[in-house]
Amino acid sequence: MKVPVAKPLFTNQVEKNIIEALNDKAISGLFGNHIIEFEENFAKFCDTKYAISCSSGTSALHLALAANNIKKGDEVLVSSLTNMATFFAVMYLGAKPVPVDIEIDTLNIDIKDLKKKISRNTKAIMVVHLFGHPVDMDPIIEIANKFNIPLFEDCAEAHGAEYKGKKVGGLSSAGCFSFFANKILTTGEGGMVTTNDRKLAEKVKSLKSLAFGTNDKFQHTDIGYNYRLTNIQAAIGCEQVQNADFLINKRIEIANFYTQKLSKFKEFILLPQEKDYAKNVYWMYHMVINPSSKISGMREKILEDLRKIGIETRQGFVPFNLQKIFIKQNLTKPDDCPVAALTSNNSFYIPSGPDITNDELNYVVSGFSSVLEKYIG
Ligand SMILES: *Cc1c(COP(=O)(O)O)cnc(C)c1O
Repeated sequence: MKVPVAKPLFTNQVEKNIIEALNDKAISGLFGNHIIEFEENFAKFCDTKYAISCSSGTSALHLALAANNIKKGDEVLVSSLTNMATFFAVMYLGAKPVPVDIEIDTLNIDIKDLKKKISRNTKAIMVVHLFGHPVDMDPIIEIANKFNIPLFEDCAEAHGAEYKGKKVGGLSSAGCFSFFANKILTTGEGGMVTTNDRKLAEKVKSLKSLAFGTNDKFQHTDIGYNYRLTNIQAAIGCEQVQNADFLINKRIEIANFYTQKLSKFKEFILLPQEKDYAKNVYWMYHMVINPSSKISGMREKILEDLRKIGIETRQGFVPFNLQKIFIKQNLTKPDDCPVAALTSNNSFYIPSGPDITNDELNYVVSGFSSVLEKYIG
């Protein structure tokens, strides 16, 4: 048996939507009913006033920061363990990302380290709802308010996650989503900026489409970008939002199944958590080998054994503070975020896609269990 880490799942509706877009001759990102519908329905889904589609999660992050006038020399505090796109977005603007360490259990930004690193030079905070677990927002909102700086959420892995009953994406100045092929909702490539701030929404909308003038179209109002999502991609997005509950619940079911079957290894493997304040949507079933257990340092061996029996896995992210190119440039050093460093060397995830069958789930659990037992002895 071969079990991939994740494949997207669509209903028949998706083909109907795409054909509709083609028949409308609406194939660009400039117009089309599906773009409007996707944005409206995504805003509803996130309980935000506005949602602006764009070409990727990375461009969503770039747009949100640019629309808030983050610029050269500004410091932005960013959770170190993430897809490096979160950091790149800050760097595109010439701003300086300052990596903040993570909590060992949720793998999200550590408020104690954040308090240590915030200063007069800090112009924004970017949190990441990593692997579908929402960040403990209240203490961070309090700090952002105290310093009077904007707060952003990278929601690329957390569509539908909730913090104290409220959806992520609406808990800060702006939320940034990705619809890459392996994300919880997908359009192949794509992104969305969510916000309750009308001015910010307008600015994002303008910047994403070359900042054309309103009265005189070719008198541009800014240095704009072309970060438009096409109407064909939006047609896929419409189907995904329609099916969001199913797709999210599927991810939760998969995680609950794994947790139930794998809890017996919890001395050796730290499993995903769900704090009291959280609804975790478990983007991927991501685990960390307990660094103080006897199987610490054995990740590569374990993953290779799993590969041999057809179980696909991925290593966890390498945090900013372990990125060689940035260490060389003196932008960071491993000690900046010791928990993120330790976690990253021990982390991985197993198949978690919405199309996984019960047979495949059972196969992963039994294969993974026997590999672990071999090393635990
Ligand atoms: C996927 C991802 C991104 C980037 O999204 P793209 O659509 O691939 O550009 C950014 N941040 C996080 C946390 C992600 O997981």
